[in-house]
Amino acid sequence: MADIENWGDATFEEKYRSLMGGMTPEAQKRSVENVVHLCQCSKCPTRAACGEEDLVFCILGKMSHPAEQKGCLCSSCSLTKTMSLRWDYYCLRGSALELSDLKPSE
Ligand code: SF4
Ligand code: SF4
Repeated sequence: MADIENWGDATFEEKYRSLMGGMTPEAQKRSVENVVHLCQCSKCPTRAACGEEDLVFCILGKMSHPAEQKGCLCSSCSLTKTMSLRWDYYCLRGSALELSDLKPSE
Protein backbone atom coordinates (compact mmCIF):
# COMPACT_ATOMS: atom_id res chain seq x y z
CA MET A 1 0.00 0.00 0.00
CA ALA A 2 1.39 3.40 -0.94
CA ASP A 3 1.41 6.08 1.76
CA ILE A 4 3.04 9.45 2.35
CA GLU A 5 6.31 7.85 3.51
CA ASN A 6 6.93 5.68 0.45
CA TRP A 7 4.93 7.55 -2.20
CA GLY A 8 7.97 8.41 -4.33
CA ASP A 9 9.00 4.78 -4.70
CA ALA A 10 5.54 3.26 -5.03
CA THR A 11 4.31 1.72 -8.28
CA PHE A 12 1.24 2.82 -10.18
CA GLU A 13 -0.57 -0.26 -8.91
CA GLU A 14 0.20 0.60 -5.26
CA LYS A 15 -0.82 4.24 -5.73
CA TYR A 16 -3.98 3.30 -7.57
CA ARG A 17 -5.06 0.97 -4.77
CA SER A 18 -4.44 3.70 -2.18
CA LEU A 19 -6.18 6.54 -4.02
CA MET A 20 -8.84 5.04 -6.24
CA GLY A 21 -9.31 1.43 -5.22
CA GLY A 22 -12.40 2.09 -3.13
CA MET A 23 -14.02 4.52 -5.55
CA THR A 24 -17.04 3.75 -7.65
CA PRO A 25 -16.55 3.99 -11.43
CA GLU A 26 -18.57 7.21 -11.33
CA ALA A 27 -16.29 8.72 -8.66
CA GLN A 28 -13.24 7.71 -10.69
CA LYS A 29 -14.64 9.51 -13.72
CA ARG A 30 -15.24 12.60 -11.55
CA SER A 31 -11.59 12.52 -10.48
CA VAL A 32 -10.76 13.47 -14.07
CA GLU A 33 -11.98 16.99 -13.29
CA ASN A 34 -9.25 17.32 -10.65
CA VAL A 35 -6.40 16.56 -13.06
CA VAL A 36 -7.62 17.90 -16.39
CA HIS A 37 -5.59 21.09 -15.90
CA LEU A 38 -2.41 18.96 -15.79
CA CYS A 39 -3.19 16.98 -18.92
CA GLN A 40 -0.97 17.68 -21.95
CA CYS A 41 -3.26 16.01 -24.48
CA SER A 42 -4.74 19.33 -25.69
CA LYS A 43 -1.30 20.17 -27.14
CA CYS A 44 -0.67 16.74 -28.61
CA PRO A 45 -0.28 16.18 -32.39
CA THR A 46 -1.84 12.70 -32.21
CA ARG A 47 -5.06 14.08 -30.74
CA ALA A 48 -5.07 17.20 -32.95
CA ALA A 49 -4.82 15.13 -36.13
CA CYS A 50 -8.06 13.26 -35.51
CA GLY A 51 -10.41 15.91 -34.12
CA GLU A 52 -10.81 14.28 -30.70
CA GLU A 53 -12.13 16.54 -27.92
CA ASP A 54 -11.68 14.42 -24.78
CA LEU A 55 -8.60 14.56 -22.54
CA VAL A 56 -7.06 12.54 -19.67
CA PHE A 57 -7.03 9.26 -21.58
CA CYS A 58 -4.85 7.66 -18.89
CA ILE A 59 -8.03 7.56 -16.79
CA LEU A 60 -10.78 7.57 -19.41
CA GLY A 61 -9.17 5.10 -21.79
CA LYS A 62 -9.14 5.04 -25.59
CA MET A 63 -10.56 7.90 -27.60
CA SER A 64 -13.42 7.30 -29.95
CA HIS A 65 -11.64 8.51 -33.11
CA PRO A 66 -9.22 6.27 -35.00
CA ALA A 67 -5.77 7.87 -35.03
CA GLU A 68 -2.15 7.31 -35.97
CA GLN A 69 0.72 7.79 -33.54
CA LYS A 70 2.15 11.26 -34.17
CA GLY A 71 3.82 11.76 -30.80
CA CYS A 72 2.73 11.51 -27.16
CA LEU A 73 3.29 14.17 -24.49
CA CYS A 74 2.45 12.01 -21.48
CA SER A 75 6.08 11.71 -20.40
CA SER A 76 6.10 15.48 -19.75
CA CYS A 77 2.85 15.43 -17.75
CA SER A 78 3.17 15.79 -13.98
CA LEU A 79 0.53 13.10 -13.52
CA THR A 80 2.98 10.59 -15.00
CA LYS A 81 5.44 11.24 -12.18
CA THR A 82 2.85 11.67 -9.45
CA MET A 83 1.11 8.38 -10.26
CA SER A 84 4.17 6.45 -11.54
CA LEU A 85 2.52 5.96 -14.92
CA ARG A 86 4.83 3.88 -17.14
CA TRP A 87 3.02 3.76 -20.49
CA ASP A 88 2.14 6.17 -23.29
CA TYR A 89 -0.50 6.61 -26.01
CA TYR A 90 -3.35 5.97 -23.56
CA CYS A 91 -5.70 7.46 -26.17
CA LEU A 92 -4.87 4.53 -28.48
CA ARG A 93 -3.87 1.78 -26.02
CA GLY A 94 -6.37 2.22 -23.18
CA SER A 95 -6.28 3.53 -19.62
CA ALA A 96 -3.42 3.05 -17.19
CA LEU A 97 -5.65 0.70 -15.21
CA GLU A 98 -6.26 -1.43 -18.31
CA LEU A 99 -2.53 -1.49 -19.10
CA SER A 100 -1.50 -2.24 -15.52
CA ASP A 101 -1.15 -5.46 -13.57
CA LEU A 102 -4.38 -4.69 -11.71
CA LYS A 103 -7.63 -6.43 -12.42
CA PRO A 104 -10.64 -4.11 -13.07
CA SER A 105 -12.15 -4.92 -9.67
CA GLU A 106 -9.04 -3.89 -7.69
S1 SF4 B 1 -0.56 11.21 -18.48
FE1 SF4 B 1 -1.15 11.75 -20.57
S2 SF4 B 1 -3.33 11.28 -20.72
FE2 SF4 B 1 -2.82 11.34 -18.54
S3 SF4 B 1 -3.29 13.43 -17.89
FE3 SF4 B 1 -1.12 13.38 -18.47
S4 SF4 B 1 -1.02 13.98 -20.63
FE4 SF4 B 1 -3.15 13.45 -20.15
S1 SF4 C 1 -2.43 10.08 -24.47
FE1 SF4 C 1 -0.47 10.75 -25.32
S2 SF4 C 1 -0.71 10.44 -27.55
FE2 SF4 C 1 -2.77 10.44 -26.66
S3 SF4 C 1 -3.49 12.57 -26.81
FE3 SF4 C 1 -2.55 12.32 -24.78
S4 SF4 C 1 -0.43 13.01 -25.03
FE4 SF4 C 1 -1.26 12.58 -27.07
